[in-house]
Amino acid sequence: MAETFAKSILCQDKSKHICGKCISCVTFDSGNNPDIILLDYSDKKSIGVEEIRDKIGKNIELKPYLYPYKIFIITGAEKMTIQAQNALLKTIEEPPEYGVFLIISNNISNFLPTILSRCMLIRMETVKNDEVKKYLIEKKGFDYDKAELYAEFSQGNIGQAIEISSSEDFSNMRNDILDLLCKLDEKGFTDMFKLVDKLLIYKENIQKALDIAFLFYRDAAVFKAMNGESKYCIQKDKIESIYEIAVNKSLKSLIKKADIVLDTKVKLKQNANFQMAAEVMLLNLKEKQYG
Ligand SMILES: [Zn+2]
Repeated sequence: MAETFAKSILCQDKSKHICGKCISCVTFDSGNNPDIILLDYSDKKSIGVEEIRDKIGKNIELKPYLYPYKIFIITGAEKMTIQAQNALLKTIEEPPEYGVFLIISNNISNFLPTILSRCMLIRMETVKNDEVKKYLIEKKGFDYDKAELYAEFSQGNIGQAIEISSSEDFSNMRNDILDLLCKLDEKGFTDMFKLVDKLLIYKENIQKALDIAFLFYRDAAVFKAMNGESKYCIQKDKIESIYEIAVNKSLKSLIKKADIVLDTKVKLKQNANFQMAAEVMLLNLKEKQYG
């Protein structure tokens, strides 16, 4: 949305919203528009004051090269320290006429009220799964099964669905989590803690990892309830693992396991201790053969 907005206000063909052909549109698409500055901090732990001064405070003093506006798109902006936010505040309190700031964040509570009071707040709503699915099929050429799978993991975010559908990391994480869950019952009590360590690898992405686990038990429960019919399973590409987990367990126990995963998701969102929550979850998911 931010990029589309930036592109549209710099597009030189005023008869169109975005022409896609003018020098501004073309240079943006190739990542070379000198007046649109993309600052992506999504993978950073924190954004310090120097960074904001260098990349924004000093930069905004230079007039745009070619266009009427100079646009900064700051992604992951919630990671700014208080000092960094105060530095940004200096700029957005009295910006030059050509300055446009698009501040993108998934956590509004991290911002100083003084920043928020100077911004126009636009909330991005999530999209229904069915709409994500439709988009992936119609616009991205996904087949039905693939679209259904990634719509499920998208959390209502089409960009995320597209990103994870081609992400090797996500695919590896799926394989690892399913493998771990399939092996759970074979493991003795001491080995359980090694499995917790395996989960620890995905600490940063734990909500996604737990979505994978939840969907796995959900699919296994559906597979069981439908007497081995895979039509209603979402992860059709993992049907062997689904069969493996479903075959020896009751429907009731599979539903219980899906519940345990959901419960852990909620606890971790409320900042429960990761190690302990992961331990308790795996102990609960394991069939209790150790007395
Ligand atoms: Zn254009």
